[in-house]
Amino acid sequence: MSTLHDVIDPATEQVVSQVSQASAEEAAAAVSRAEAAFPAWRAVAPADRARLLRRFSDVVDAHLEELAQLEVSNSGHTIGNARWEAGNVRDVLAYYSAAPERLFGRQIPVPNGLDVTFKEPLGVVGVIVPWNFPMPIAGWGFAPALAAGNTVVLKPAELTPLTALRLGELALEAGLPEGVFTVVAGKGSVVGNAFVESEAVRKIVFTGSTEVGTAIMARCARQVKRVTLELGGKSANVVFADADLEKAAATAPYGVFDNAGQDCCARSRILVQRSVFDRFMELLEPAVKGVVVGAPGDEATEMGPLISAGQREAVAAFVPDDAPVAFRGSAPSGPGYWFPPTVLAPVSESDPAYREEIFGPVVVVAPFEDEADAVRMANDSEYGLSGSIWTRDVGRALRVARGIDSGNLSVNSHSSVRYWTPFGGFKRSGLGRELGPDALDSFTETKNVFIDTTS
Ligand code: NAP
Ligand code: MG
Repeated sequence: MSTLHDVIDPATEQVVSQVSQASAEEAAAAVSRAEAAFPAWRAVAPADRARLLRRFSDVVDAHLEELAQLEVSNSGHTIGNARWEAGNVRDVLAYYSAAPERLFGRQIPVPNGLDVTFKEPLGVVGVIVPWNFPMPIAGWGFAPALAAGNTVVLKPAELTPLTALRLGELALEAGLPEGVFTVVAGKGSVVGNAFVESEAVRKIVFTGSTEVGTAIMARCARQVKRVTLELGGKSANVVFADADLEKAAATAPYGVFDNAGQDCCARSRILVQRSVFDRFMELLEPAVKGVVVGAPGDEATEMGPLISAGQREAVAAFVPDDAPVAFRGSAPSGPGYWFPPTVLAPVSESDPAYREEIFGPVVVVAPFEDEADAVRMANDSEYGLSGSIWTRDVGRALRVARGIDSGNLSVNSHSSVRYWTPFGGFKRSGLGRELGPDALDSFTETKNVFIDTTS
C-alpha cells in the first residue's frame, strides 16, 4: 500500500503538497509495465522516436515556468537557477532526440563475409535521483536512455518529487506510450531498492552519496547489472599568483555557494598561492558578504535555503563554536533552513571541513607554495569530480589541468556542465560519464554480427 508523504518548502517550512509513496509491490508493478512496454518502444522507427522526444522537449519548454516555480517551492532553488534547470531538461531531450537516427554501428572488414555491429538497447533502465538537482539529474538519465530505445523507471528523492512527477505527466502529454517513462515516488530503501534488486531492470543510473552509491554498485554486481554512478566531490579552486585575482575572488563564492553549496561540483576548497593569499582574502570578503541570500522566488536572490533541517544540522556540524571562521555572509532569520555563506581559514589538511563533502555553503581556504604543491593538494582527496584553475599562464593551466585527477575542470571559470560535453568523476566521485556524444554507449550493448557470404 502506498502512503502519503508531506512535501515541505525549505524556505518556509510549510507543507506544499502531499505525495503518495509507492510500496515495493507498486514499484515492482511499474517495472513490469516498463518491461512490457520495451519491445514496442525499441521497435518504434528511429525518426518517430526522435519526433516523440522532440515533442517531449517542446512540451517541457511550454511548461518551463511552471516547472521552475515548482522547483522553487519544493527545493528552495533560486528562480534563476530553477529556470535554467527546466531549460536543461528541454535541451537534453532536444540533444538526444537527434540520437535515434544516428545510433551507428560499424562495418568491419573480414574475409568471406560481412561484419557489422549494432547498438542494442538494454531494456528497463532504473534512474535514482537525489534532491540537489531534481530536474537536470533526472533528464541526464532518462533522455539518452529513451533515445537509445530503453524504457525508464525513475525514482526522485523523497524530499523533492514534484518536478519529476510533473515530467512524467508531460511525457504522456507529448505522446510517449504508457510504460515507456514512469516516475515512481517513494523511499530509497523501498522503491530504489526494488529497482536495484529487480532482474528486469538491466541498468541503474544513480546520483547521490558515495556511501549509498557504493552499496548499490555492490548489489548490482550480483546480477552483473550495468551501473553509472555520480557521487560526491571535494573539488579544488586553485588560484595562482599570476591570475586575475579580482575576478578569481569575485567569482569564487558562486563556484561553491551556488544552490547553497548543495552541488557535487562545488569548489569547496579554495587553494591560493601563498604570495597572494592575504590579498586574495581581502578581495574574497566583500564578495562573500555580497552574496544575496533570501527568498528563492525573488529575482535578485543568489542563494536560497538548505533542503531540510537534517541537512542544516549536518552542515552546521562542520562549523562548531571554535571553528576558524574567517568571515561569513548573511542569511534570513525566521522559518526556513537557512545557513549563511561561511569561509573557514586557516584549516589544517586533516580537518574534516577540509577533507569531507559538506554539501552546504561552507568553504575552506588554504595556501600552497608552488605548482607541484597545488596539484598535490588538489589531488589529496578520495574524490575527483570537478575543479577550477586560475592563471594567466597557458602552459601552467594545461599542466595543472592534466595533473589534477578530476573529470571536469575549468580554467578561469567555474563552469562544469554543458549537456553536449561529458560529465563524471574520477576516483570515488563516480563511475562512467553522462551527457555529451558518448553517453549513449552507457545505454546500449554492442552486438557483433558476422554474415558468411561464401555460399
Ligand atoms: P542518498 O541517500 O545517496 O540519496 C540519493 C538517492 O538514492 C535518493 O533518491 C534516495 O532516496 C536513494 N536511496 C537512498 N538509499 C537507497 C537504497 N538503499 N537503495 C536505493 N536507493 C536509495 O543521498 P542523500 O541522503 O539525499 O544525501 C546525503 C549526502 O549525499 C549529501 O549530504 C551529499 O554529501 C551527498 N549527495 C551527493 C549528491 C551528488 O550530486 N553527488 C547528491 C545528493 C547528495 P531517498 O530520497 O528516499 O533517500
Ligand atoms: Mg540518504
